Amino acid sequence: MSETFRAILVSRDEQKKQSVNVVEMAPDELMDGDVDVAVEATTVNYKDGLAITGKAPVVRRWPLIPGIDLAGTVIRSTHADWKEGDKVVLNGWGVGETHYGAYAGRARLNGDWLVPLPERFSPKDAMAIGTAGYTAMLCVLALEKAGMGPDRGPVVVTGASGGVGSVATAILSKLGWHVIASTGRPDEAGWLTDLGAAEIIDRAELSEPGKPLAKERWAAGVDAVGSHTLANVLAATSYGGAVACCGLAQGMDLPASVAPFILRGVSLLGIDSVMAPKPRRLEAWRRLSQDLEPEKLRSIATEITFDGILDAAKDIVEGKIRGRVVVDMT
Ligand code: NDP
Repeated sequence: MSETFRAILVSRDEQKKQSVNVVEMAPDELMDGDVDVAVEATTVNYKDGLAITGKAPVVRRWPLIPGIDLAGTVIRSTHADWKEGDKVVLNGWGVGETHYGAYAGRARLNGDWLVPLPERFSPKDAMAIGTAGYTAMLCVLALEKAGMGPDRGPVVVTGASGGVGSVATAILSKLGWHVIASTGRPDEAGWLTDLGAAEIIDRAELSEPGKPLAKERWAAGVDAVGSHTLANVLAATSYGGAVACCGLAQGMDLPASVAPFILRGVSLLGIDSVMAPKPRRLEAWRRLSQDLEPEKLRSIATEITFDGILDAAKDIVEGKIRGRVVVDMT
């Protein structure tokens, strides 16, 4: 008989009241897939926090094992690309939303969703990056594709002490950008400077309703916050600049005007990590292993175990997590 494993299961009753339990599961209770992975590390993203607390409708199949990211070793495969012993990474594809996710000892997945764990990273390193860090790299790739580079002027990073923001700060500074980090946590200024921020600004400067156009302050932006913050980032982007938009920590709205687009030729670049095609994922992971320094990764990550996932989920939604959380599942 196959071994059982612990899993976090999110359920809801007939009144749609959500509950979260730690359960013991057998492999034959997992959903369909052609690859089984022994989960060695996972993480807690903002989206995982929303799924576990029920604060937003991330879970779209009940019951569900949440967890959108994992790294581990293949233990069974009928997929042509993978064999037992391969080290793999999974980010998104609806895992932890509509398919059983990472918060379990074992995951059964579609082999098409997996990418190889880059040689330079351990499973825990890959999860210190996780969807947040891989999305930060997708933002950098989008800016580069739009012709942006450090010679164009500064780049602003919003939500800088969060997961996307901290990894974006580390990568962009390594690439030579003058990084302006926007944060609501002035006490993290020293940490952000160590990560590579050249300037720190108070997020309150950007979070209130602003003018359609403002003084040009940066050539580019990575925005994980949305709402007025993104509107103000766009309004202060210099002529011909570009802003990568990936998050909604302040809100899903975008109370902006067309002025930055039609008067300054500013581009707004939408970033989705969940359904990003495999070639873009492979490129993002290749660039992460090239452009993210391991010591910065270590300073970004805090390690917890399986038992700490529920508390971390609550904390991330309340904005109490700095950088990234790594869950050691071994
Ligand atoms: P984190 O919670 O780690 O970081 C978000 C940061 O945003 C916080 O640390 C905080 O930074 C800032 N923030 C929080 N609340 C507010 C607020 N009310 N107003 C202004 N700033 C605020 O989350 P992640 O970095 O993991 O994710 C960031 C966003 O990106 C989320 O909305 C997430 O859903 C989204 N996302 C989207 C992806 C995609 O595929 N498009 C993939 C990954 C994430 P500080 O304290 O420094 O101000």
